[in-house]
Amino acid sequence: TLNRLAQQQLQGLLAELLTTDDGIVASNWIGGTLCAGTGEEIVLDNPATGETLCRYHDAGATLLDQAVAAATHAQGEWMALTASERGRRMNAAVRGLEGFEEPLAQLESVVAGKPIRDCRAEVVKVREMFEYYAGWCDKQHGEVIPVPTSHLNYVRYVPYGVVGQITPWNAPMFTCAWQLAPAIAAGNGVVLKPSELTPFSSVVIARLLENGGLPKGLINIVNGLGPTTGAALTGHDGIGKLVFVGSPESGHLIAEAAARRLAPSVLELGGKSANIVFADARLDEAVAGAQAAIFAAAGQSCVAGSRLLVQRGAFEEVATRLARAAEQIAVGLPDDETTRMGPLQNRRQYQRVMCMIEDAVAAGARVLTGGRRPAGLPDEAQGYFIAPTVLVDVTPEMEIAREEVFGPVLVVMAFDDEADAIRLANDTRFGLAGAVWTQDPAQAHRVAARLRAGTVWINSYKAINVMSPFGGFRDSGYGRSSGLDGLREYSVPQSVWVETAPEASVAFGYGNG
Ligand code: NAD
Repeated sequence: TLNRLAQQQLQGLLAELLTTDDGIVASNWIGGTLCAGTGEEIVLDNPATGETLCRYHDAGATLLDQAVAAATHAQGEWMALTASERGRRMNAAVRGLEGFEEPLAQLESVVAGKPIRDCRAEVVKVREMFEYYAGWCDKQHGEVIPVPTSHLNYVRYVPYGVVGQITPWNAPMFTCAWQLAPAIAAGNGVVLKPSELTPFSSVVIARLLENGGLPKGLINIVNGLGPTTGAALTGHDGIGKLVFVGSPESGHLIAEAAARRLAPSVLELGGKSANIVFADARLDEAVAGAQAAIFAAAGQSCVAGSRLLVQRGAFEEVATRLARAAEQIAVGLPDDETTRMGPLQNRRQYQRVMCMIEDAVAAGARVLTGGRRPAGLPDEAQGYFIAPTVLVDVTPEMEIAREEVFGPVLVVMAFDDEADAIRLANDTRFGLAGAVWTQDPAQAHRVAARLRAGTVWINSYKAINVMSPFGGFRDSGYGRSSGLDGLREYSVPQSVWVETAPEASVAFGYGNG
């Protein structure tokens, strides 16, 4: 069966990349050593078959302490290097991935249930993110502030020390590299906790980067559940800043825990992004864009364009064409090279999405296509598959129009004019992304400027690059990742004052108490 094959494949990869000297398959990378957890047993399913894939143990608090200690020590060594040397080491570290791209992609494909071609693309992104931030290492110069001439005042950007990172299951390799690269480029050590559902790829990446030349212990990966290892990381005194990527519900808990010990945080949370299509848009492109916006990664994407708003004159045509396009998507097993959409990653998510579809129908929504398991799957595909789903007759009050589904479910709603489109698009507690499709450039820029979303596309959807800042408004979180803004989140400005004219100091105010 596929499960046996997948298990053999996984065991082979685990044996190669995740086995300690004692022959134990381990889920943590701490101080340059693989180690097994000692806490609760965690069982992973194969998303494609629904059968048990493997088991491992929660890291627990003792291993977390070791990880923070290792990161603290390595961070000192890292900062003792010159900035240029840190950049060279980061570039060299990327070469540690060479030759392992395919095993890494396959490992992720089995565990995350993502199509193999998507996983290969994700590995390329990992490399790009480290190369980009390697270039920043020796360019983080400070500033001189034009204070009164009695003083020289300059600002340095200094690292926090050790930062904690917590990531979700939908794009584990991308998210891991997305946060690791700026953190170490800014001079920090890291302890990262991936999702308990996709624990291994981050361990492998950290191990390979270290093989390539990063100091032992600069990056540590601990695996375990949110309420145990995740909460311990959030509350750890040795962690100077927390960066969390995940759901708004967990984001609230992280922000509260961080606030209790006054640790700063960045939250990259979910979305309910609006994709606005005006009647004058090039509809072929808009339909293709809308399809990619929601069905890529089976909708398990934070920027998924899950609310399609179509101007009334084009509504029927766009909705019908989208439904037909959705039916053409090749849904299948993740290891099949022709698969464009795989299963959802886990049983809980599958059940949640199916419930949301049922509730929407009960509330009056109509299924244009999908809403069930896809037809024509191979026998072994007993896992968490849902056909690409398009819903109409949806009103803005319905849960399906308001809450993040995080699955292949699109709601299509009509609007009358520009003001109506903006009102509907902003009628959400989220603010992660949005798009506008029109051939009127003035309208495109007007609408983009009024969308309360961290990323807006014009006649496009999902273009994303490590050079450009990314983040949310409102319940989609705060702080920014990627680009210079993403780097700055990992450093603190330190203001240094030098007295250059002591006789002028009194006039300046200092010395008067
Ligand atoms: P989740 O919040 O359930 O889990 C995310 C991570 O938080 C996991 O590692 C989990 O173990 C940990 N966690 C959970 N409770 C915790 C606690 N009390 N203390 C510490 N850690 C805890 O999210 P998920 O289901 O894994 O991921 C899906 C969500 O992530 C969606 O909402 C999606 O939109 C969002 N997401 C956002 C971005 C972004 O960049 N904005 C990117 C990817 C995913």
